[in-house]
Amino acid sequence: MSGLSIAPYFDFARMKIIGQTVHEDAASALIQLRPDERYRPTCHVCGQPAATVHSQGHRRLIRDLNVAASEVWLHVDYRKVWCAACEGARVEQMSFCAAGKRVTQRLARYVYDLCKLLPVSQVAEHLDLDPKTVKDIDKSFLEQEFAATDYTGLRVLAFDEIALKKGHRYLTVALDWLTGRVVWMGKNRDKDTLDAFFAGMTAEQKAGIEAVAMDMWEPYINRVRHHCPQAKIVFDFFHLVQAFGQVIDEVRREEYRQAEAQDKAVLKGSRFLLLKNKENLTTTQRSRLAEVLALNQTLCTLYVLKDQLKLLYYYSDRDQVQRALEDWCAMAAEVDDSSLRRFVKRLREFAYGILNHADYPIGTSMLEGVNNKIKLIKRRAYGYHDEDYFMLKVKQAFPGKNLTNFFG
Ligand SMILES: [Zn+2]
Repeated sequence: MSGLSIAPYFDFARMKIIGQTVHEDAASALIQLRPDERYRPTCHVCGQPAATVHSQGHRRLIRDLNVAASEVWLHVDYRKVWCAACEGARVEQMSFCAAGKRVTQRLARYVYDLCKLLPVSQVAEHLDLDPKTVKDIDKSFLEQEFAATDYTGLRVLAFDEIALKKGHRYLTVALDWLTGRVVWMGKNRDKDTLDAFFAGMTAEQKAGIEAVAMDMWEPYINRVRHHCPQAKIVFDFFHLVQAFGQVIDEVRREEYRQAEAQDKAVLKGSRFLLLKNKENLTTTQRSRLAEVLALNQTLCTLYVLKDQLKLLYYYSDRDQVQRALEDWCAMAAEVDDSSLRRFVKRLREFAYGILNHADYPIGTSMLEGVNNKIKLIKRRAYGYHDEDYFMLKVKQAFPGKNLTNFFG
């Protein structure tokens, strides 16, 4: 064979190149292929060799990887076979292209790899493919790789929610806390969601769960207790601070309503100052905050209380946490406010999950931290209104690594 040949680039099993057309400016090339008749065709459905050719002369145009600067199209003749095994007229199997597809497998693989780096729209533009084709290719590879849930070796979990539409549409994320791997994602954030997660686990795997981090969210608590009664539930610190932030906000609004006109001016716009971490405020903002706190005793106490919540998560000794909790509640009792009283009641009810933090210093903040990345994926993928696709993309983005081995 001559050294100058394109054949090595199109070395598809059981196919023969029978023609080649390069368009004048080499912007595109057409390669004509047909099955090598020395081999018996096989059925694409069951993979069995077929004895009878049902019909000839079918043609399909299939996009392949570019060669140099040329867009390459394969013009493929193929046959239909009569398959005795699955009893029907079937398209013959082609080694380089899945049945019914308009791109070769190697191009599909390239699309999948690019989709790890770029949004679907950009991949589509780069390769001059339809965005829907690109998304479908990406999704089908993702399904092969990530659709099945890998429950092996799980010991410490974190559950959290992602809001797709605030107040309307939620997804639940299950994270392997020790590796940072997104183990599973499910629709909604209710009882059925977690039941679906646990349904895939063996009794032994469930018994292997030592601790679970989450928000104080009844459906999660309830289902973890049901499926993994031995697991220690740990309530996430940032969610607790967030819940307390709502108390501050309610009090602030109430105080503003009752304030004299002059004081109103000071209180106005103080929400941000009160809820933000002090370290993140500018010098001007800090002095404004000081003004607000000097003016209003209740807000001042709440502000200190917010700061003191940290102590509940500071100790690694349960007795010390218990004492810090008592101190905190005693301080909160000084303030006569109904939303604060409700918060204290809840805190006492959920104290077990704060005490457990002494044994398992875990939280869902790892998930909060990845939220930005998830938002990016959402922008890229959710435009397709395909939640399954979005969930697969998130799993792909967080494969986990051996990060932590805190607990033995
Ligand atoms: Zn068959």
